[in-house]
Amino acid sequence: MRKMLLATVALAFGAAAYVGGAQTAEAKTFIAIGTGGPTGVYFVVGNAVCRMVHKEAAEGRSSGRQHGIRCSAPSTGGSTYNIGQISQGELEFGVAQSDWQYHAYEGDTPDKVAPFPKLRSVFSVHPEPYQIIASKDAPEIDSFMSLKGKRFNIGNPGSGQRGTTEVLMNLFGMGTGDFALATELTSTEQSNALCDGKIDAYGYTVGVPNAGVAVATDGCDARIINLDDEKIKSLVADTPYYAFATIPAGTYKTTTSDVTTFGVMATFVTSADVNEDVVYEVTRAVMENIDDFRSLHPAFANLDPQKMMKDGLSAPLHPGAARYYKEKGWM
Ligand code: GLU
Repeated sequence: MRKMLLATVALAFGAAAYVGGAQTAEAKTFIAIGTGGPTGVYFVVGNAVCRMVHKEAAEGRSSGRQHGIRCSAPSTGGSTYNIGQISQGELEFGVAQSDWQYHAYEGDTPDKVAPFPKLRSVFSVHPEPYQIIASKDAPEIDSFMSLKGKRFNIGNPGSGQRGTTEVLMNLFGMGTGDFALATELTSTEQSNALCDGKIDAYGYTVGVPNAGVAVATDGCDARIINLDDEKIKSLVADTPYYAFATIPAGTYKTTTSDVTTFGVMATFVTSADVNEDVVYEVTRAVMENIDDFRSLHPAFANLDPQKMMKDGLSAPLHPGAARYYKEKGWM
């Protein structure tokens, strides 16, 4: 990752910065937002945020309200990768599952996500159900337990689904040795691997609908199974950041009835070390353009700013985000 993030590049053009008496030199701040695989919803979140930031920058150039922030949202390994890179100052922002936000801030699962007490919330985005997608050639897969002896993609290290899959493996007393094959494919690879008959199922925590999942459900008749047995019911009851979620009938070709599973929220996070004005401007750009933001992905259709500033957030709000919410009278 590049090292010079958040570098403020004051253009030192001297006299050349003045054209017709007006100062054109603008201090630029570069921010990078960690997302997920290019076929996921996080990639859309990051790029939608950048789009709003750049829109505000362009409008600011004519109205005089300038912020000078330039934004990029590269594809990454996902939630826990993003949190780790933010803690090292390699990324300024990232999208992360609410369960991994919780654990990074609390520092209670250091084997899964690096403890990061300076983690700060900005807002939450869409709900993300945890989904097991099973091949049409493996009709016997109907629960997490039934994955025993199957070829199962546990996901790439750094992804949120990898961590959540490990939580389920612990819950059901399973290790990687219980699968005929445990692969570590990325979200971009897993649907093709399923359709090519290389794996029997994969686990994925992702917003609905998702083009990557559709490759498997609509492309090769894979199914999303229900995850609502007694063990999962007690997991949800005992865990503050999990809630039951429904994937409605009709979402994909093979979703002929509602699917019940549990899920988390996608959240937008940063570090206490990121400048307050920058976090304020990013928050403001998203919230002032929320209608545009909602239109960029069907998973964003129901976003409500006053819920986004609360739901699924366990790390404290960054003061830059809180400043915007207070200004609006929302807190
Ligand atoms: N929830 C996944 C993760 O944390 C990413 C999903 C997506 O890319 O939309 O890695």
